[in-house]
Amino acid sequence: MSYIVNKNDRLHVTVEDLTHDGAGVAKVDGYPLFIHGTLPGEEVEVHVTKTLKNYGFAKLLEIRTPSADRIIPPCHVFPPCGGCQVQHLSYEAQLEQKRKSVRDVIDRIAKLPHVPVHPVKGMEDPWRYRNKSQIPFSTRDGQVISGFYQSKTHKIVDTDVCIIQTEEADAIMTALKRELHSLGIDTYDEKTHRGMLRHVVVRKARATGEVMVVLVTLKKKFQQKDAVVELIRNTVPGVTSIMQNLNSNKTNVIFGNETICLYGKSVIIDSIGDIQFEISARSFYQVNPVQTEVLYKQALDYAELTGEETVIDAYCGIGTISLFLAQRAKEVYGVEIVPQAIEDAKRNAELNGIANAIFEAGAAEDVIPRWYAEGKRFEVLVVDPPRKGCDEKLLQTILEYKPKRVVYVSCNPGTLARDLRILEDGGYETKEVQPVDMFPQSSHVETVALLELK
Ligand code: SAH
Repeated sequence: MSYIVNKNDRLHVTVEDLTHDGAGVAKVDGYPLFIHGTLPGEEVEVHVTKTLKNYGFAKLLEIRTPSADRIIPPCHVFPPCGGCQVQHLSYEAQLEQKRKSVRDVIDRIAKLPHVPVHPVKGMEDPWRYRNKSQIPFSTRDGQVISGFYQSKTHKIVDTDVCIIQTEEADAIMTALKRELHSLGIDTYDEKTHRGMLRHVVVRKARATGEVMVVLVTLKKKFQQKDAVVELIRNTVPGVTSIMQNLNSNKTNVIFGNETICLYGKSVIIDSIGDIQFEISARSFYQVNPVQTEVLYKQALDYAELTGEETVIDAYCGIGTISLFLAQRAKEVYGVEIVPQAIEDAKRNAELNGIANAIFEAGAAEDVIPRWYAEGKRFEVLVVDPPRKGCDEKLLQTILEYKPKRVVYVSCNPGTLARDLRILEDGGYETKEVQPVDMFPQSSHVETVALLELK
């Protein structure tokens, strides 16, 4: 319990900040209150719902002075749908908010207030950008529902339209919802572990227009296969691939191990810049193709390659950044922990006739020290780690062998800032930081930082 603010208090507060999950933050004598639905600069009336030792939560009752950046969210399920967090903030203000959040950790955690954090590179049209939708299906009160999960729950918010996904995904979601009953297909129930259709995944290759639909089912055998294929083909004329993935496990992981082709090809082809990628049902692939190109161009610019360099791409996934780099480097070494992704990387290198990209499956922090121990030397190192940032051991390897330039691509500004501080202390200088908006309407931000050896 706090002594300044108590549960059930009705307060008039000014919102100062926005958290990562889109809640406004107001401070009452230094005590932070989190208030969903509010924006920085707003004066609001709130009802305190919960107080903990160091912070509390409140419910918005009334906005007294709205932010000049507040807009009416165009989506009818925002909130409660957990897919987007900041639709009520104008896009321009979203970008500024993201820049501020990166600036903040670069100042506070990396302790680099003099390093420039550039304005966020945003999208011209920040809607309909997602090339992959993973749509859960269920039944509520006898009606088939499908849409997206409410934030931090497994409760489906039913909708026919999602304006950050493709129109093809909308069409599939709606058509299946309407027709499942008459086709005699039931939906999966997480509690009883019964029912056929679990998820439908729709992927679209932006550059080629190819579309893949994956039906994730509890059982392999279902009699209505032909009818479903026909329904999907009628809904998305020219659909490239219809797949079935079998997931008989009691789990909330979407995919199971076995995938079979019901119609058309088993892969779709996309390209980013002039590199082609083969995408299968379960391949990892960036979800915003327009901004992926912006992000990779930035990484490539910072790498400043002349064609003479040997480069590492650590945490390379299916080798997307590696293949970009390979066009301008002598050699690129990609390392990634998921063996399947490395197989995709090798196939994609072949598909593009790129012979100077070498891929190895393993943990970056184990494989890279071994490469060095074998006598290999690298001028430039690109890292693109998951949210938890670079492994400590990898950072120590960098500090020991001192590649001239490090390009750090990050999906979590907090761990980026932590790692920048470690690299700074070990002899690197952070030159500049460029955030890129990969996920408009959400509060996520991607960042590229350039470091050089002092
Ligand atoms: N650079 C890629 C993927 C980045 S996502 C792209 O742009 O598409 C981060 C990747 O790091 C994931 O593919 C994940 O599987 C991988 N990963 C996680 N821990 C790892 C580790 N210790 N060593 C190598 N790769 C790792």
